[in-house]
Amino acid sequence: MSEPRWLTETAFANMRLSFEVTRVLREDQTPQQRIDLIENPLFGKVLMLDGATQVTSADEFIYHEMMAHVPILAHGAARDVLIIGGGDGGLAEEVLKHPAITRVVQVEIDAQVVEFAREHFAEFNASAFTDPRLHIEIADGAEFAATTDQRFDVILIDSTDPIGPGAVLFTKAFYTSLRRCLRPGGIVVTQNGIPFVQRDEFMDAMRNLAQVFQITECYVLAMPSYAGGHMALGWGSVDRDPREPDVDVLTQRSSALATRYYTPEVHRAAFALPRYILDARIAAIAIDR
Ligand code: SAM
Repeated sequence: MSEPRWLTETAFANMRLSFEVTRVLREDQTPQQRIDLIENPLFGKVLMLDGATQVTSADEFIYHEMMAHVPILAHGAARDVLIIGGGDGGLAEEVLKHPAITRVVQVEIDAQVVEFAREHFAEFNASAFTDPRLHIEIADGAEFAATTDQRFDVILIDSTDPIGPGAVLFTKAFYTSLRRCLRPGGIVVTQNGIPFVQRDEFMDAMRNLAQVFQITECYVLAMPSYAGGHMALGWGSVDRDPREPDVDVLTQRSSALATRYYTPEVHRAAFALPRYILDARIAAIAIDR
């Protein structure tokens, strides 16, 4: 019997996570990035970009639910949502579960990610890609944010890690553009990596966020396919405190929402940070640059 083949994530310096490969669906180098799409018995389809796991069909709901529902339910009256990145469509699917959302603009740099996500991740993105409320633009998210005159209630940065085309999406200049695109009461949520293995990147992003937004926080979730402990999502707002509203209000707002990870209690609890993450966040904000 032949040895199983493994696809190894190479994103982190001192740790490697490998996925058993039962089928290769795509191995490609686009002008923007290296794409690997494989099948694994536990995670289903696994997408890596430049050696970093982006999404798996089995656990995508965790990250996407927490990125979409926490700010939308906290806001309570969001209509217009901007997604930057998120080419696999899983985040748009969660956002569009909210009937009050009337328009979702998604700015993704790589048309090929969208194209094959349509083909290979239809089980979770088909409803989004056929929803007339979704408007996809193929462009650099940083350029879009710097130049658009559109305004949004919630902005979600579903980016790759801060290397390659994604690096610009963690900068102070980018967050400044996002603040300009927010309506009063608006919220920005950012993908902030795994603080245990990406401490410096996490601290840089938290510091940049704090230099732009009056209210910055971060909240956590646990993704089985992202090894290294909790994943952090950043929160930036001029005027909206993530400690509000309370569980009763969130319960009322989410009563018709079908979820598998999100609950109002998980929403609240996600802002209670483990000490090592809290310390890194506090230290990041304390550094004056
Ligand atoms: N859930 C994933 C994670 O946690 O790493 C992120 C997934 S999503 C597939 C990331 C997307 O960001 C990719 O499709 C990539 O092409 C896109 N992206 C990277 N840099 C970008 C930029 N500057 N503007 C817009 N999209 C970008």
